[in-house]
Amino acid sequence: MGTKRLVSFKRLMKRDSWKWKSLVSAFKWKRLSLRIGFSFIDDLIFKVVSVFEAIFLVSTLWGKKRERNKTKEKARLGAEVAQLQRAGVPDIRLVAGEPDFDTPAVIAEAEVRAIREGHTRYTLNAGTLSLRTAICRKLEEENGICCTPDEVVVSNGAKQCVIQAVLALCSPGDEVIVPAPYLGSYPEMAKLADSRPVILPTLCSENFLLDPKLLESKITEKSRLLILCTPSNPTGSVYPKPLLERIAEIVTKHPRLLVLSDEIYEHIIYAPATHTSFASLPGMWERTLTVNGFSKAFVMTGWRLGYIAGPKHFVGACNKIQTHFSSGASSIAQKAGVAALGLGYAGVKVSEPQGAFYLFINLSSYYGIEAKGFGKIENSESLCRYFLDKAQVALVPGDAFGDDSCIRISYAASLTTLQAAFERIKKALISLRPAVPV
Ligand code: PMP
Repeated sequence: MGTKRLVSFKRLMKRDSWKWKSLVSAFKWKRLSLRIGFSFIDDLIFKVVSVFEAIFLVSTLWGKKRERNKTKEKARLGAEVAQLQRAGVPDIRLVAGEPDFDTPAVIAEAEVRAIREGHTRYTLNAGTLSLRTAICRKLEEENGICCTPDEVVVSNGAKQCVIQAVLALCSPGDEVIVPAPYLGSYPEMAKLADSRPVILPTLCSENFLLDPKLLESKITEKSRLLILCTPSNPTGSVYPKPLLERIAEIVTKHPRLLVLSDEIYEHIIYAPATHTSFASLPGMWERTLTVNGFSKAFVMTGWRLGYIAGPKHFVGACNKIQTHFSSGASSIAQKAGVAALGLGYAGVKVSEPQGAFYLFINLSSYYGIEAKGFGKIENSESLCRYFLDKAQVALVPGDAFGDDSCIRISYAASLTTLQAAFERIKKALISLRPAVPV
């Protein structure tokens, strides 16, 4: 009878250590009472244990019911939205986690070319060497992270990178620290690894940024992973460098704790905020897995392409999981990924104006290109002539202001005029095509 109870208890209390501890002490007491031979103590212990069992059963069922209700509530809301749409009610949807414009043509064209050229087979499980090399270059130039292609794994989206990392790093009973508000998948991923999500609330008045003191107070010997998301979905908060440095100090003190830094929104940031990669902080490369992807910055949500970078032993474990999950990302999407990173590397560079009404744009990556029916774009002057010729838009060469890599656009015009001008400039640039290393 005792063994049977123990089995059912084990099942009931799998997840919560405090429940385990009470159970174990109850059974220690029971063994002691049997050894001593006080059957009334034995009875008493069984009664106490039964009360515990009833409480745990009720609390477990209650928790499950609450979770089920939440899921039902979400489904009901979704159904109501669908119903409104079917009824033709002109509802405004501000829900999707994706930009509402198209993937840039250069990227789409790289994909079509990849299909035409027959890049349609399995790639290495970790991703093509050319994409992982492009990612390393991007991480070094934009994020201050130095790594090699064997420290990068490309997956079918950033989300897959996160779950693979959680599964690879966390064991049953480990704690995954998640600042709230969070991406709904993070705690669920922790549960999938039989780990315990430890949710740390943040305050609106503190821009929803994690309080380092709270973090420090919640770290235990079971803490395995801290998930940071900057810029954050859903709050839009951006972790300032000094705060990340403070968190890094705490992480240093706890050798078992790792950080997963989800940086998928890094390019969508508003001045004066700037993005800092946690792995770029002194000593943090060894302790960090950096997750990023193409969905948001390059409008490639449907292409399913993301990547993780970190010490080889960690990303190697992620790759092992991936090998048996999906074998790797799409070969053609990976080709497009190289083109996308080429855009960031060799495309248009612009600093956000803080005043006046000019944009001073660096378009020097287009210099040296032979334009059909025009000739070679040599410098800012010939690029401005090209825009006038092909797009009938007049701009001023940067050379006139002492910087030949740029051209100046005055935006003291109506929105309609500006929209028309940018459409034309865009078309002219697309037909030039940037030098993308695909
Ligand atoms: N991380 C965050 C914070 C996100 O908001 C999302 C998408 N909603 C993802 C990861 C998943 O990105 P992907 O499309 O690359 O899987």
